[in-house]
Amino acid sequence: MEAGGCRYQFRIALLGDAAVGKTSLLLRYVAGAPGIPEPEPELESVPTVGVEFYSRTLQLRAGPRVKLQLWDTAGQERFRCITRSFYRNVVGVLLVFDVTNRKSFEHIRDWHQEVMATQGPDKPIFLLVGHKSDLQSTRCVSAQEAEELAASLGMAFMETSAKNNCNVDLAFSTLTDAIQHAL
Ligand code: GDP
Ligand code: MG
Repeated sequence: MEAGGCRYQFRIALLGDAAVGKTSLLLRYVAGAPGIPEPEPELESVPTVGVEFYSRTLQLRAGPRVKLQLWDTAGQERFRCITRSFYRNVVGVLLVFDVTNRKSFEHIRDWHQEVMATQGPDKPIFLLVGHKSDLQSTRCVSAQEAEELAASLGMAFMETSAKNNCNVDLAFSTLTDAIQHAL
């Protein structure tokens, strides 16, 4: 699909419990990082369905530029009442938990199931993200058990911190590379 001079447009959603840091992770990513030519984030709101998305273009490792449409929930994840339109045509999902919040880790399977139940035959590519990795002294989910969960769900796992800007770009590029690979 042609979009803003880009050959492809990828629609990606961030999902996970409230307060795990999804919006912070997204804002950190769209605010740009060194070496990225287009740091201007574009916020486009869809107030009727209570979600927001940001756009950013990205040069894929092996190939074209893509426009990323990054969808964020606007608080409704607290009530688990995310509309179907949020998931429509999503090709990638970051499943985010907080490494200091055990419940947010335990809920990852539920978020995964909800996406799988909502999607048609084309299932998106997932990446499991253990966020707030800067909080090592209070973490209560080990990297090993997160790796095991990711493997059992058929996805990769990565730890990120918006505070320290750790692995933020890498998480999105890992996901987009996997999406491109699956095209
Ligand atoms: P959301 O509800 O999942 O969108 O979470 P928010 O992005 O609103 O963040 C929830 C809280 O976690 C806020 O107080 C953030 O400042 C904090 N937070 C987000 N990312 C990080 C991080 O990487 N490290 C730490 N220590 N706090 C974070
Ligand atoms: Mg949020």
